[in-house]
Amino acid sequence: MSQAFDQVKAQEESLLCRSYSRYPIAVARGKGSRLWDVDGKEYVDLLAGIAVTGLGHCNDEVTAALVEQAGRLWHVSNLFYQEPQLELARRLLAESHHGKVFFCNSGAEANEAAIKLARRYMRKARKRDAYEIITLSSCFHGRTFGALAATGRESLSDGFTPLPEGFRQVEAGNLAALEAAVGPKTAAVMLEVVQGEGGVRPLPAEYLQGVGRLCRDKDILLICDEVQAGLCRTGKFWAYQNFDLKPDIITCAKSLANGLPMGAMLATDEAAQGFEAGSHATTFGGGALVSAVASRTIEILRRDHLDARAAALGAEFRDKAEALLTRLGGAIAEVRGLGLMIGIELAEDGTEVWRELLRRGIICNLSHGRTLRLLPALTIDAADLDTFLETLEAILSGR
Ligand SMILES: *Cc1c(COP(=O)(O)O)cnc(C)c1O
Repeated sequence: MSQAFDQVKAQEESLLCRSYSRYPIAVARGKGSRLWDVDGKEYVDLLAGIAVTGLGHCNDEVTAALVEQAGRLWHVSNLFYQEPQLELARRLLAESHHGKVFFCNSGAEANEAAIKLARRYMRKARKRDAYEIITLSSCFHGRTFGALAATGRESLSDGFTPLPEGFRQVEAGNLAALEAAVGPKTAAVMLEVVQGEGGVRPLPAEYLQGVGRLCRDKDILLICDEVQAGLCRTGKFWAYQNFDLKPDIITCAKSLANGLPMGAMLATDEAAQGFEAGSHATTFGGGALVSAVASRTIEILRRDHLDARAAALGAEFRDKAEALLTRLGGAIAEVRGLGLMIGIELAEDGTEVWRELLRRGIICNLSHGRTLRLLPALTIDAADLDTFLETLEAILSGR
């Protein structure tokens, strides 16, 4: 490692709370699907801030929207009406069957809003004392207390208990287990149709349709966490649209403002009755600056048909990755994903392969020690994905 890197690393260790394990790269600059480190080394970025910079780093049009709004109005509090927030709401709601939106600042916050809305809808609109949220094994819904309780992974809550009550988890993919868990206290089922942090695991279509039916039959809400999979990444604007589902509530964040912090919860008009003035609030939610940036982001996703592009590029990539799997005979265990949400599970621990990819200038994530996870910008060149596969093949063949 270089002296410049060592200095940054030492500063980080002395200044910041110990809560992240970081990659051995100090990033100085980005453009599109390229990053440059403090020594000027260039990388192909196949992670895009963990599905955040969906339109690439420093996208010119998004930057122009940011600069334009920055000169007009940044923030006025939700005590006031302002148009950028409404424009964004119109654009988001045009893409789904939902009727109302609540803006916040992160994925975890969007999920907190969804949990609160589900509970309060049941109590106030339906007069049912139903509060329990059922989630699935291997899920991830965020790190705030409610979202952490929903996530239900002990390694993440170690030292932080007690967590809020009213959450229950069942095995993903097992419809009978879900049916058995639903009771009079159940308010909602919350799931990711493609589990992201769980290792890029698409849930089977029949299962998802079964969950949708079950929620309707039992008269409970379905919440889809679209924080990672939403906004065109899986080949549809929303990931649930791949599966003929009609979730009552969805949440999104990550790529919503292409790198500025923003989250949103969308609800049907029916479910949205759970909130009234004063029920829920956040200072920064839907601020004028982030809203204008998110609006431009959504406009570009639509205008450039990036949903269809993600579907086509993702399918092409998975075909090539499957061919590689066959060619290499054993080094790759499985290729998973939907659109540009991609997991390549290696047969053995992938730490060295991942590290060698970094050395050769390719950034991806290693999930659960064995799965190379790719969440590239939706604008990425097909050639960059080919470079990844060629480099991976070279590494796995010992070249
Ligand atoms: C990242 C993520 C979250 C949490 O989002 P934050 O912005 O980190 O709070 C929640 N759900 C899913 C599916 C995610 O991928």
